[in-house]
Amino acid sequence: MHVRDLGCFRSVAVRSDDASRGVAGHHLLDIETLEASEIRRLLDRARELRDTVSQSAPVLAGTSVITLFYEASTRTRASFEIAAQRLGASVITVTSSNSSVSKGESTWDTGRTLAAMDPGVIVCRHPHPGATHLLARAVESVGRTAVINAGDGAHEHPTQALLDSLTLCDRLGSVEGRTIAIIGDIAHSRVARSNQLLLTKLGARVLLGGPRSLVPASLEAIGGTIIRDVDEIIRQADAVMMLRVQFERLVGPPPFPSLADYNRTYGLNASRASLMKPDAFVMHPGPMNRGIEIDPEVADGPTSVVAHQVRNGIAARMAVLERAMRKGPWQSQGQGQSRGQEMS
Ligand code: ASP
Repeated sequence: MHVRDLGCFRSVAVRSDDASRGVAGHHLLDIETLEASEIRRLLDRARELRDTVSQSAPVLAGTSVITLFYEASTRTRASFEIAAQRLGASVITVTSSNSSVSKGESTWDTGRTLAAMDPGVIVCRHPHPGATHLLARAVESVGRTAVINAGDGAHEHPTQALLDSLTLCDRLGSVEGRTIAIIGDIAHSRVARSNQLLLTKLGARVLLGGPRSLVPASLEAIGGTIIRDVDEIIRQADAVMMLRVQFERLVGPPPFPSLADYNRTYGLNASRASLMKPDAFVMHPGPMNRGIEIDPEVADGPTSVVAHQVRNGIAARMAVLERAMRKGPWQSQGQGQSRGQEMS
């Protein structure tokens, strides 16, 4: 059984509703509890920040942003850190190997400890679904710090979905009524889950493809329609999002006979990419496993918008950081709200 986290997904969904009731709305823990109107606002603000980046005000000056990463990251961490610096914040990086996590400290205690230093925001990546919701509760028990989920296990990766929609809208104008394909290891992908939720909220048609072992029928409940013939999905899509197999989350026997079989049946190679509509384009959240889910000629070819996605990540995260701090256009919403209790 490869979709070992499906049970977790259900319990996380319940916890996320609970968590959202208890917070003032400054955390960004998932797409599931964000209204479509708020998603549109974040995308609009990201566009404004991107277009005025050289003059953007240092609205986070005097604020500390802590990036707390329990899992590997290249683009997400660098992107959050650049976004925070562009807004004038000072950035402190904490990873599990360079912190007391390696001495056995719990996520709860780490959260309370960091929150007691009163940073504006903790950006957290964690291997366990729901861990950033727990962290949010821990920091709320101490003070006023906002928590942003930078990916929690196979649960959600909200800022990736925001930057993906920013990229989609750049090319398509809007995602409403458009057909977006997500192909690969959807069962273990927080990127897929956040995109399924976000794209459906914004009125896109989402098509899901990949092996049955990694794309079970139950995933349609999150958003989208499964089509088993990948070539057919590619013919219909306005944009094709390819996902890596999340090898680090697999348990049990391999979910497909061999990597060569996977590449032949589900990988995006030049011949399969030639089935795309004339203006359709290819996305990938990275890191790419070339020769498995995507071939180099497609990854580096003219239809790839991967670098554009990475660039958009900074603007999307600037908008999210501003919102977390209730600064800039978000200021009026947050005035006078109490964000927690003092440490007893
Ligand atoms: N970078 C993305 C994530 O952190 C996608 C991936 O790792 O496959 O979920």
